[in-house]
Amino acid sequence: MAKKKKLIGVDLGGTTIKFAILTLDGDVQQKWSVPTNILDEGAHIIPDIIHSINHHLDLYKMSADDFVGIGMGTPGTVDLKAGTVTAAYNLNWKTTQAAKEQIEAGTKLQFALDNDANVAALGERWKGAGNNEPDVDFITLGTGVGGGIIASGRLQHGVNGAGGEVGHVTVQPGGYLCTCGKHGCLETYASATGVVHLAHDFAEEYAGNSKLKKMVDNGDEITSKIVFDLAKQGDFLANEVTNKVGQYLGLAVANMANVLNPSYVVIGGGVSAAGQFLLDLVDKTFQEEAFATVRDSTTLKLAKLGNDAGVIGASSLALRFADDADLSDSAKVANVAAQVVE
Ligand SMILES: [Zn+2]
Repeated sequence: MAKKKKLIGVDLGGTTIKFAILTLDGDVQQKWSVPTNILDEGAHIIPDIIHSINHHLDLYKMSADDFVGIGMGTPGTVDLKAGTVTAAYNLNWKTTQAAKEQIEAGTKLQFALDNDANVAALGERWKGAGNNEPDVDFITLGTGVGGGIIASGRLQHGVNGAGGEVGHVTVQPGGYLCTCGKHGCLETYASATGVVHLAHDFAEEYAGNSKLKKMVDNGDEITSKIVFDLAKQGDFLANEVTNKVGQYLGLAVANMANVLNPSYVVIGGGVSAAGQFLLDLVDKTFQEEAFATVRDSTTLKLAKLGNDAGVIGASSLALRFADDADLSDSAKVANVAAQVVE
């Protein structure tokens, strides 16, 4: 019997490109990363990805024959069939990029891609907090707020790829202006930048004693981590901010669950490093705003995989190129979720 082949997962981000070599069961065997070079309208990014993969296969004395294919998560709007990416502004890509065509030519491996939040959702669902259940929703709180929905065993893309974009759910009509042009999107309050925006606005209105207030007044740089750390230490103003963030997130999560009734809503991304403290705040509003059937059957959880969610989920896109007989039951379930419904 031929040796079971492996997967390559790529998580393309605005500052780093993460790579991993994984087994067909999604276990990471090697990983590395390179900085994302966004100069020259991002013209170096795809050649850098090809070079880095080929270089590491040489390094590990492996060849294209050892792999079933490559999966990649990317920012921007993805054309799943054509394998192209448009509107990835944080990569400086101003025109449509033929990612699939170029990477397949450069590595001699089959290639599939999807949106970065969707692949993180696939990763957490397969190997992390999602327990490989058929119905799992995922929210990632980073510079922005992204999301991915696995419903009845399949990742949901919608008609134009915007399925699962929970960051643009309106939580405050007429609220903060979002990068999407709308007002009051979840992203404007619950992203790292949103938390800082709230902190500045609340500090302006507040006259009491607070370390956060002093820092803002001094012009110190505030981060969402600082706000959450101060809140945990009992700072009044910081708690006002984190309570508000928890309310908005809880409202969005409850409404998503009221529609989809998943087993789990998994919360990940940099802001979720605030851990159980954040989860408790979100759960408080969730318990109020989810209706009884949902409240009794949907559970909120923190993500487990951290930075690896992206490469693991991305690698599951390449399961479609494997021989089905080589896949475990768990990998088969992951493969169904990651495939595009024709
Ligand atoms: Zn928006």
